[in-house]
Amino acid sequence: MASAWTADQWNKFFEVPNSWHYDSDYEQTKYKQTLSLVPESITGKVAELACAEGHFTELLAPLVKDLVAFDISSVALGRTSERCARFRNISYQEFDFLNNPLPDSFAFELIVCSEVLYYCESFEQLRGVAKQIASRLTPKGYVLTAHANGSRDGNKSGFRWCEIDADIVIDTFKEAGMSIVRELRTPLYRIGLLQFSPDREDSNWVVEHAAAGALRRNVSCAIEWQGTQLTRNAARETIKTRRLPILMYHSVSDKVDTHALAPYRITPSAFEEQLLALRQRGYRSIHIDEWNECRRHGKPLKGNPIILTFDDAYKDFIENAFPLLEKYDFTANLFVPTFYIGRASEWDSRFGSCFDLLDADELRYLANAGIAIGSHSDTHPFLAYLPERSLLLELSRSKQTLEDLLNQEIKEFCYPFGNLSGAVLEAVQKSVYDFAYCTEKRACDLSDNQYCLPRLHVMSDLLIDKFIQCVVHATDQ
Ligand SMILES: [Zn+2]
Repeated sequence: MASAWTADQWNKFFEVPNSWHYDSDYEQTKYKQTLSLVPESITGKVAELACAEGHFTELLAPLVKDLVAFDISSVALGRTSERCARFRNISYQEFDFLNNPLPDSFAFELIVCSEVLYYCESFEQLRGVAKQIASRLTPKGYVLTAHANGSRDGNKSGFRWCEIDADIVIDTFKEAGMSIVRELRTPLYRIGLLQFSPDREDSNWVVEHAAAGALRRNVSCAIEWQGTQLTRNAARETIKTRRLPILMYHSVSDKVDTHALAPYRITPSAFEEQLLALRQRGYRSIHIDEWNECRRHGKPLKGNPIILTFDDAYKDFIENAFPLLEKYDFTANLFVPTFYIGRASEWDSRFGSCFDLLDADELRYLANAGIAIGSHSDTHPFLAYLPERSLLLELSRSKQTLEDLLNQEIKEFCYPFGNLSGAVLEAVQKSVYDFAYCTEKRACDLSDNQYCLPRLHVMSDLLIDKFIQCVVHATDQ
């Protein structure tokens, strides 16, 4: 159970603004959904408990006449009053409502209380707080509350940290004499509108189903998805392996191809199915350095490690693949042919059509978001057929271009067309790369050569059952 934080602890927490990423699509979507349940009939006083930095407060204020924003932290309240300075209908009150009865000087027609009851120290305290809140409502007053799903129950998706979850919160308000009148459910949280009417049966309230907003990794890392067979924590405790599946992808797009490149383009929905399957089986993205550390020290890898690689840096990576990687908390390695940054994949023209590639700003954005960027040569040639001088130029120029662009050392390389020879291998080492990925089709092992890392090819005709078999088999052996 969470321990109750003091005002000092909260003030310290709020020293850094926006720690909860209130402006993310996930939070903003949740705010809009919560607002959609505010009854239009409200004319009296409204309270928002735990207003934090006022991001929801400023959306609620235009909808109501008289709003009191409460928070335990003076730092947070200060930020709310700054953010909401343009509104004349808000008053601010520093107050610890989890440990003190709400002031009885006024009654509220609506109390909004979201994402805060997790911090009750016990179910006992939660019951007391729910009773308190109910007792400060006008007759037929409302409580509006949004809380996350917990992951106790493997039959639905929820957050690992969440012990007092949305179901418990809503049931506790019911125990306190409230009836649920409207509800909005997403796969990750529930928003309930409850009304104080102890005699009412709440058997037929309106339930609306909606999607949650786009997830960033800071939120998605704590989710256990519905159907999870092995959590990442459990995998880390029980599994030791010498195997590392490194998956090879190219394009993730709905665009239809009939030519020779079609096998290299998988649909976003197929990709999502694969990521969910990996998450449900406890897989986690690792950096190749972790494989290298284990290799050097002769120690096995812990848990279910995996690396997802994307060749060619197509623009659809940032449009389609990256948001899904964020949603399921995976990262990836992206290999960039540097001459073509911001242009089209001209080397594809001999097999089919060319596609747009990521530009410099997009590569910088992805690198900042934790995507490992590596070189895929400069002009995407068949390296084994080049004279030595051109070969060395391909390797050094692309490394330098990426290092200048991203201001970081580039240590990883990927052979275009999987085309290599002894001379190419030697040249890659000479050009001060630490790792290179090839197209040999098998799972990587701790005994593999770091300049010839094999990969499992994920092609468009690979069905999900085969995909799972292929990855799990690669890890088990
Ligand atoms: Zn390529």
